[in-house]
Amino acid sequence: MNIILLGPQGSGKGTIARSLAKDFGLIPISTGDLFRESIAKKGKLGLEAQKYMNKGVLVPLDLTIKILTSRINQPDCQKGVILDGFPRSLDQAKALEKIIKIDYCINIDLPHEECIRRVLERRICPKCHQGYNINWVKDNTCPKCGSKLVQRDDDKLEAVKIRLEVYEKTTAPLINFYSDRLLKISGLGSPEDVYKPVKAFLSKLGGKN
Ligand code: ADP
Ligand code: ZN
Repeated sequence: MNIILLGPQGSGKGTIARSLAKDFGLIPISTGDLFRESIAKKGKLGLEAQKYMNKGVLVPLDLTIKILTSRINQPDCQKGVILDGFPRSLDQAKALEKIIKIDYCINIDLPHEECIRRVLERRICPKCHQGYNINWVKDNTCPKCGSKLVQRDDDKLEAVKIRLEVYEKTTAPLINFYSDRLLKISGLGSPEDVYKPVKAFLSKLGGKN
């Protein structure tokens, strides 16, 4: 089973992806994380993508497809994947059709004021790549590995506003593209509240996988 997550910045896609990985054995793939990992290793793809990312605009299609397929073609992904941050445009959705079959699309709805508030409060662990809200962690330190948490370059207000605009204009129309296999949920509430209908929906399909 392959699933994609749609939802604006800060809507909690990464959190849902982690829960789905745990409960259903799906492999979570975030194109944003793949780019950031490549940047950290000074990889060619990452360094090319970085200038777009810092501005808050989409990385060109060819670079994004390259980084996605390098991950999706690894053997563990046979189990099924949960895509977080891909596709983000009609071009990407069409390209994806040629790579894997998408069974379901989960769309997370969240008002923009709440998206902005959450993104400005987001810090990430440079080692584990997991995001945390500054109010939920002690001493700005990663609860898993103890690293100092940092703010992403593109989580500053100006870039966040641009990213939300790009989301509404280019990514949100994908809801129509996936209308025949869509689950709509609200991103408001605790991570448990948000995940509940997702788990119920997928569990009904016949348990694991
Ligand atoms: P967010 O969803 O909060 O914007 P991500 O970590 O998913 O954060 O993405 C960060 C940046 O990486 C995006 O603003 C964009 O520049 C780039 N990026 C990630 N995924 C894609 C994609 N599918 N297509 C183009 N660019 C992407
Ligand atoms: Zn960590």
